[in-house]
Amino acid sequence: MKNKFKDNSQLIQLLQQVDKLLTLSPFADRQCNFMEICGTHTVSILKYGFRNYFKKRINFLSGPGCPVCVTSQKDIDKVISLAQMGVRIATFGDLIKVPGSKSSLEEQMALGKEVNVVYNPLDCLKIADETDEEVVFIAVGFETTIPVIASLILDAKKLRIENLSILPLMKTIPTALNFLLTNLENEIDGFICPGHVSVIIGERPYKIIPEKYGIPCVIAGFEPVDIGLAIESLVSQIRKHTPIVDNRYKRVVKEKGNISARRLIEEVFEKTDVEWRGFGEVPASGLKLREKFSKFDAEKKFNINVKSSPEPEGCICGEVIAGKKQPVECPLFAKKCTPDTPIGPCMVSYEGACSAFYKYGEE
Ligand code: SF4
Ligand code: SF4
Repeated sequence: MKNKFKDNSQLIQLLQQVDKLLTLSPFADRQCNFMEICGTHTVSILKYGFRNYFKKRINFLSGPGCPVCVTSQKDIDKVISLAQMGVRIATFGDLIKVPGSKSSLEEQMALGKEVNVVYNPLDCLKIADETDEEVVFIAVGFETTIPVIASLILDAKKLRIENLSILPLMKTIPTALNFLLTNLENEIDGFICPGHVSVIIGERPYKIIPEKYGIPCVIAGFEPVDIGLAIESLVSQIRKHTPIVDNRYKRVVKEKGNISARRLIEEVFEKTDVEWRGFGEVPASGLKLREKFSKFDAEKKFNINVKSSPEPEGCICGEVIAGKKQPVECPLFAKKCTPDTPIGPCMVSYEGACSAFYKYGEE
């Protein structure tokens, strides 16, 4: 069956509508800044040519949309420190190449340290069951992944697994957006909100953005027509001065999100202050294990002694994540820093802005 969200004729119609609106006030003499909060949206916007098409009219900013990219340098150093202590690390593949201040997991593997790549956090149960070694899962992720990490903890408790813990580096998106608008100087005219995160949290957590800041939001899917619908929604909302949270991904995102997944998160985790790359410490934007699960907290189980760590010299990942600069403004982009020789995390992860710019080009 034909996928109507890849339908060219619908996309052309949408683009014509947006073209027309962009000739009218308030767009005629200024460029709009739209921030996408999902690495896969960054990829879609570049890959399908939206960035080039709207050049000089719409400036797309890559926000804090990739969980690996927003992990602070200090937290990456904690991961490396755990590997150096000799515990077995279980992690999503993207983290392996991210350079810490002095080393990366990839280098630690070459030195003989044990690192298992997992695709599902629940795989850690089997890994821990098959070894007597301590296993630490590096719990990086947004609301999309966090319910599965909560299940991992509940299962580990039920199965009385003693040699498994997690390094809790999880972050929540709406708090970060609020912080971005309150604390970081930014001129954002609209947000393209993440599809998968919204499956869990629903529409409500974004409402503060139009209500308090007057900035429109649209929840979008990832196909070309989805992106066209998102752009058309933001431009129309700005034109009519009616900012709302417009859910254009209703085939997947329900108004209230996934209530049972959120209950699972609530049961296992509680809010905590956490450091984001590019943002610094953001109050109540991270999650830590509730006291009754604290024996699964690797920070408590092991003596991780890492001081604050500087960003890699010359790397502007922090500014890219905060929407202040584009990857191509980094002097290292595509020169010293490439996917084979990444200097910052945004060049490592598939969802990272620098990697997307490198792969799909800007011009
Ligand atoms: S998990 Fe989904 S919503 Fe979140 S950043 Fe990745 S692609 Fe976007
Ligand atoms: S191009 Fe490389 S060094 Fe520059 S911001 Fe991106 S990841 Fe960092």
